[in-house]
Amino acid sequence: MPHLVAICYRMRQNLLPPKFKTLAEAKSLDIRKQLGLRSTQACPARLVAELYNVSVTASSSLLEVLQADLRELFPDQALYSERLTWVSNPECKFSALAAIVGEHRMILYNDSNSLARQESDIMHELAHIICEHPGDCLQLNADIALRQHNDSHEEEAKWLGATLQVPDQGLYQLVRAGHTTERIAEIYGCSIEMAIYRRRITAVDRRLSYIKPKPQF
Ligand SMILES: [Zn+2]
Repeated sequence: MPHLVAICYRMRQNLLPPKFKTLAEAKSLDIRKQLGLRSTQACPARLVAELYNVSVTASSSLLEVLQADLRELFPDQALYSERLTWVSNPECKFSALAAIVGEHRMILYNDSNSLARQESDIMHELAHIICEHPGDCLQLNADIALRQHNDSHEEEAKWLGATLQVPDQGLYQLVRAGHTTERIAEIYGCSIEMAIYRRRITAVDRRLSYIKPKPQF
């Protein structure tokens, strides 16, 4: 059903509110400015987390804490170890989650994923926090509510997270300077898939093709 797929794709694209992409780009540049970074430089997710007072915790360290704390409570160590290891198992699909406990905000991420993947996972959760998506965080200060899937919030976090990593302005300059997609991924500390995605979705190459070459004398 290729037509249906195309329609669904367009519908998903329309889930972003008007001007969201422009605001996301402005946010990406503003955060870089606050961190003293240029648009052609990587903006590490952990620095953005610091800026927003969000603590970032690796699932493996949480596992160690839990194992230490629970050892005395649960005599059947094999059972609790088996149940806890899922968070740091590469086979499980866990990427990251954001949690809010009172004023404290934290992101738990799966550090068994690649560094590039960790960057985009953390940035995605930060995007939820920056957008103040109420249903997208684990709210531990009130009734515990696991993430409720909200398509438009997911699209916003996906777009903003990716824009924070690879801003249009910097990408344009790097492509214009002749850098390859692989080099651009290296510069931003993102995956090659992310660099390809941003290069395609921002239509950088098409926009550059409109620039008339300067006459040669
Ligand atoms: Zn999300």
